[in-house]
Amino acid sequence: MQNLLRFICWKSCVLVVFTLGLSGMCSAQKLAITMDDLPLNGMLPPGVTRAETTKNVLAILKERHVPPVYGFVNAKKLEGNADGAEALRLWAAAEPVGNHAYSHMDLELNPPEAFQRDIEENEPALELLAATDNWHWLRYPYLHEGDTVEKRRAVRAYLKTRGYRIAQVSLDWEDYLWNGAYARCAAKNDATSIAWLRSSYLNAASAFLDLGRQQAKLIYGHDINHVLLLHLGAFSSTILPEALDLIKKKGFKLVTLEEAQSDAAYEGDPDVGLHDAGTLLDQWMQVKQIKYPEHAEKPYKEIAAICQ
Ligand SMILES: [Zn+2]
Repeated sequence: MQNLLRFICWKSCVLVVFTLGLSGMCSAQKLAITMDDLPLNGMLPPGVTRAETTKNVLAILKERHVPPVYGFVNAKKLEGNADGAEALRLWAAAEPVGNHAYSHMDLELNPPEAFQRDIEENEPALELLAATDNWHWLRYPYLHEGDTVEKRRAVRAYLKTRGYRIAQVSLDWEDYLWNGAYARCAAKNDATSIAWLRSSYLNAASAFLDLGRQQAKLIYGHDINHVLLLHLGAFSSTILPEALDLIKKKGFKLVTLEEAQSDAAYEGDPDVGLHDAGTLLDQWMQVKQIKYPEHAEKPYKEIAAICQ
């Protein structure tokens, strides 16, 4: 009898260890980092260049062995801007580029035809910059995919005929908010405020990484591969090492955009007109009328007021 009990105990222990091991192996969720608004989002501190900022970010990505990171370009920012052109040249020599529309046009404020022209106006720069023809990815400016279903369908059909894939987003903590604030605080040499920017950024990042995973489970019944939206700006090279540590600590494995979006979740289309609906997951939450789990909000007011 005692032997039998011992055997059962041993078997269940093996089962527990095996299950835990397996769940540990499976919990590394895939995540692709993407960067918008190249050559640069927001303001820079005085004396800091776009090229220098880009070089610093590229060095971190290389040192951390981050798989290729798509940078989404608005070529209008290059007009009369040699620093911007140099920054973009540096980026494209190291990482892939994609289309973010020439003038960062808002599809909610414009008809599909004008939006399509803005996409095409961006193409010569991408053609010149990209080492291969892998630039046929569109990241919608403001993540606005169309405030009417007709617009949404028209642009999607157009993208398909031109060989574009939509670079979706599942994770977003509006990191751009910190770019301008950091530029102001760095100009004032305000170390206390910069320390607060770091901690508030990492708190928001942590909360919204968790929220994205919860959203995926509510929508799909399981977690999915994720695509994270960041913006290349003044704060990026300062905070990126800690952001990468956090992403790793949360159990994510960094992959390419192609690999992340090979998940079947990215084949779905909410196919409705939506106003400022946010990420693909936010869109589905709205369409399926799923209640948001409790989560921390971003400190909009404090960020806007700091170092003014
Ligand atoms: Zn943008």
